[in-house]
Amino acid sequence: MRTICTIGSIRTMRAMRLTFAAMVAALWIFGTAQFSAVAAAAGAVAPAMSPAQALAQLTAGNQRYQHDANSHPHLHARRRSELVGGQAPFAVILSCSDSRVPPELIFDQGLGGLFVVRLAGNTVTRAGLESIDYAVDHLGTSLIMVLGHDSCGAVKGALAECVSKPTAGLPEIFANICPAVGQATKAGVANLESSAIELNVIDQVRILERSPLFKKRLADGSLKIVGGRYDLESGKVEIINSGD
Ligand SMILES: [Zn+2]
Repeated sequence: MRTICTIGSIRTMRAMRLTFAAMVAALWIFGTAQFSAVAAAAGAVAPAMSPAQALAQLTAGNQRYQHDANSHPHLHARRRSELVGGQAPFAVILSCSDSRVPPELIFDQGLGGLFVVRLAGNTVTRAGLESIDYAVDHLGTSLIMVLGHDSCGAVKGALAECVSKPTAGLPEIFANICPAVGQATKAGVANLESSAIELNVIDQVRILERSPLFKKRLADGSLKIVGGRYDLESGKVEIINSGD
């Protein structure tokens, strides 16, 4: 059972947490109208689906996975042939490299569905940002999810390193997580690791939101950036930040 944080900023963060179902409903209501306008934007690659549709597809896949009902879609020879000429992944997942959190499996997706950027600690790096931008700008991907997870080794390492050494001298993996560690430490929460995991996801969402690369698409509703947290035991991905 995850320890519940009680300090102000963490309480606010938890209040922002939505279930997948609620998130999908909200996006359907508020996002669909804006999406159609974006698809017509001159020079842009029209997304294959709206952000709400993309999140709904992730939701459905994760629910199948939670209940041992994976359909393993799009894993056959015909699909391979279909993709030889190009790809149009509906979602970007920025996730940890952890072997227990493979995005294609936990969202029950097959070939061509997800554009995945993985590195320990699921933080935004220069090359990662450029990769994500490629998917959004050239492949028409309409949803970006930053996906953290319980018992993350990179966050554990950052907790040990950030407080004792100057950030400038740390490996990039830890240095990128240090702001979240600092926020969690300052808040004085009971479960520092759990809070740092969530705050790190939120930090990375904010970094992506502030990038000029995505400003126009975020404004017109053709792109959404959300945070998620994967529970190792249940297999559930919980939305921890709407990206709004
Ligand atoms: Zn991890």
